[in-house]
Amino acid sequence: MKTMDVVVIGGGIIGAFVACKLNKSGIKKIALLEKLEIGNGATGQSGGIVRVYHSDPLLSDLALEGFKEYQAECDLSEQECAFTRTGFLYMESVHEFADLQRECSRLLTNGAAIEILSAQEGASRFPEFKWNDLNGAIYEPDAGYMDPLLATKALTRKLANRGVELYEGIEVYEILQEQGQTIGVRTSAETIYCPHVIICAGAWSSALLSDCTISERIRSKSIQFQIAKLQHAPRTGFIDSSMDLYSRPYMNDFTLIGLPVDEWDIDVEHRTSIDLGQERRVLQAASHRFSHWGEVSTYGGRKSFDAYSVGGCGIVEEIPELKGTIIASGFSGSGVKIAPAVGNRVVQLLS
Ligand SMILES: Cc1cc2nc3c(=O)[nH]c(=O)nc-3n(C[C@H](O)[C@H](O)[C@H](O)COP(=O)(O)OP(=O)(O)OC[C@H]3O[C@@H](n4cnc5c(N)ncnc54)[C@H](O)[C@@H]3O)c2cc1C
Repeated sequence: MKTMDVVVIGGGIIGAFVACKLNKSGIKKIALLEKLEIGNGATGQSGGIVRVYHSDPLLSDLALEGFKEYQAECDLSEQECAFTRTGFLYMESVHEFADLQRECSRLLTNGAAIEILSAQEGASRFPEFKWNDLNGAIYEPDAGYMDPLLATKALTRKLANRGVELYEGIEVYEILQEQGQTIGVRTSAETIYCPHVIICAGAWSSALLSDCTISERIRSKSIQFQIAKLQHAPRTGFIDSSMDLYSRPYMNDFTLIGLPVDEWDIDVEHRTSIDLGQERRVLQAASHRFSHWGEVSTYGGRKSFDAYSVGGCGIVEEIPELKGTIIASGFSGSGVKIAPAVGNRVVQLLS
């Protein structure tokens, strides 16, 4: 009979950081189970933008905690993440400059490298963007993007060397319980007995919890970004809060550009090619924000999905009907930047 202290379900960046933090906390027998291969889910498709400021202070705090850990190279070196520093602008046209100043001061006090720009300052420092309708921006000089798949593979390799049992191609079918207490998992290989299960199964998480009310709080949602070649590609990333348009440099001369997609409860077993209607919407929106739009060539993009939750900060909670089982999912397009913080939350919940 196979027994473990903790089983972590899901080999994405959240599962990897959760297993890493549990291992560091001194838990001995940890198994990480991935039904296909490491990075099969959102992690393998992610844009990998790592930045701090969000309009929701709770999300900013999680992102700051994650950012500090990435910067301090706590669990992964910059090389292992393939981190590229580009700087990042959060352009604000909704909230007033004074609100931005307040939140910026709070984050500065908490150790974020962050500055606030008026629209005039923005226009003179970043003329590659149009600033006429903006109230200002938050600028993070140290922000950038990483390769989440590379990072997750590097982290899981380290974990295997530290004695965490890593299983790929093994699916968890069911979480076993006795009188509301977790006792193990039934998998495609064998039953593993354990008092604690951490569900880090991204958009698949609710399928494992179909009998529990928490499953209603997690929904799958499409994410699509485009790859374009612009005449004057900006070297800085940005998000434009008025329409949630975002962008970052992509490889050497290309630019990744995206807008939210309003497609919910999708079939997560089948990824599809990109939606060309969405591509048109992205290009249309981007033409309002980039100064030198002119000739643009597009090179497709990527369509995938993530688990979403109300508020977007995700759910890291013990399941009321399944004592001993914790869910860590619903990170709503932000899971990479907050993954180290999520790992810390899970350790706090277990201790
Ligand atoms: C296109 C795109 C762009 C994004 N851009 C950014 C960005 O710029 N910055 C940012 O911070 N975030 C971004 N995100 C979001 C981020 O990538 C996700 O929030 C994060 O990767 C989620 O990680 P996860 O480990 O929770 O889930 P996933 O990566 O989806 O991993 C879940 C894993 O669980 C496995 N699994 C599922 N069910 C089972 C089972 N029963 N048994 C065993 N294994 C199972 C799956 O195979 C999968 O590998 C983006 C996402 C997408 C799709």
